[in-house]
Amino acid sequence: MNYDLHSHSTASDGSLSPSQLVELAKDSGVDYLALTDHDGVDGINEAQIAATNNGLNLIPGIELSVSYQNKTIHIVGLQLDIEHQALCKGIVKLQNYRLWRAEEIARRLQKVGIENALDGAREFAHGKMIGRMHFAHFLIKNGYAKDTRAVFKKYLVKNKPGHIHGEWASLEEAMEWIIGAGGVAVIAHPARYNLKRNKLKKLINEFKELGGKGIEVVSATHSTNDINTMAYHANEFNLYASVGSDFHDPKVTWNQMGKLPPLPERCKPIWNLWN
Ligand code: AMP
Ligand code: MN
Ligand code: MN
Ligand code: MN
Repeated sequence: MNYDLHSHSTASDGSLSPSQLVELAKDSGVDYLALTDHDGVDGINEAQIAATNNGLNLIPGIELSVSYQNKTIHIVGLQLDIEHQALCKGIVKLQNYRLWRAEEIARRLQKVGIENALDGAREFAHGKMIGRMHFAHFLIKNGYAKDTRAVFKKYLVKNKPGHIHGEWASLEEAMEWIIGAGGVAVIAHPARYNLKRNKLKKLINEFKELGGKGIEVVSATHSTNDINTMAYHANEFNLYASVGSDFHDPKVTWNQMGKLPPLPERCKPIWNLWN
């Protein structure tokens, strides 16, 4: 069975609609797909219908933005009851913060001479979750940078004009929302936070104490070395291992759907929890 437990649609910053995403997953040989849009579940119902039509298993998920020790980290929730009240309230809070942040990003970009960034980014967000990727699309379209990589580097990361220090959910809140909704919590792409070994172990420990079940061992954003490190930590902490492409866009070649390395054999796959 081919599992991809981390992906994005137009309900957040992906470029495919939930149905197009499911169709691509099907064509790519994925049997189990989790849709894990940033801070929202608006794409799940459409994805579920497409999955039923295509004979694919859809896992309702989310990728929550969390402020942890002065950093932004991401916690994936899988197998969620997307109507659960605490989760829905949490989503509203994060979406409101996103709206405020988008206005603030636009104000800051205006200070460096970039006009109408809010309307521009909104056009790309299509009334759904607004994020830095939508600003990136607007900035590229208007010639401020040549591609996504360049635009983030120039405008949207720390110490650049369009960057704002995130004030997202706390780790405790995110865990409560996911577990409250009957879901399984997974640390997304743990190698991406540039945490030193001890800090990473501290995060994993706190996460586990709050009821966390898994960490992404295989992610398209992980090197072979990262995969081995995270497999080691998963086993050390007796956590389940997850696998996800973090797919956003078919034009981005390095994280294509269904093209991930296998989980190291010593790992306990997260899908053992529901199979
Ligand atoms: P946000 O949650 O709105 O702050 O946006 C985070 C998203 O922006 C990530 O999920 C990626 O899709 C994208 N992103 C962040 N950093 C980069 C980068 N350096 N290059 C390309 N995309 C990025
Ligand atoms: Mn994203
Ligand atoms: Mn992420
Ligand atoms: Mn993601």
